[in-house]
Amino acid sequence: MRYKTHIIFAILLSIIFIKILKPGNILLFLVISLIVSFLPDIDTPHSKLGRKVFFSRFLKHRGFWHSIWAVILFTFIIMLFYVGVYVVAFVVGYMSHLLIDMSTKTGISLLNPLVNDRIKGPIKTGSILEKAIFWIIFALILLVIII
Ligand SMILES: [Zn+2]
Repeated sequence: MRYKTHIIFAILLSIIFIKILKPGNILLFLVISLIVSFLPDIDTPHSKLGRKVFFSRFLKHRGFWHSIWAVILFTFIIMLFYVGVYVVAFVVGYMSHLLIDMSTKTGISLLNPLVNDRIKGPIKTGSILEKAIFWIIFALILLVIII
């Protein structure tokens, strides 16, 4: 998925969770979620974040960093230092990335490396369908803000 689609999906999920959890600092919740939504693609030098870190070329794309284990491990590490509503922002941002990657033809293996079966969808990255999904998510954001 293109980074724009990751961003807009993270915004949608964040707004939903902001409405449910009512964090003290909405902007902080949103910023954490958006930044974290880029994190899984650190495993490819072709991503915006991966281009900035030297070790990205040594990682397996859509391997550990795109697994549920990464979410659990990083959440656990964060919770050693902080426990509160902004941990949810981290999980929402990370999971938004994994969920939208599941809708792509390449898919992700959520339980990698234990189970290598990939959860896939019909969307080709950069396709018309992805662009349509982008605008559907945009419309959903407006809807969620209004209701
Ligand atoms: Zn990804």
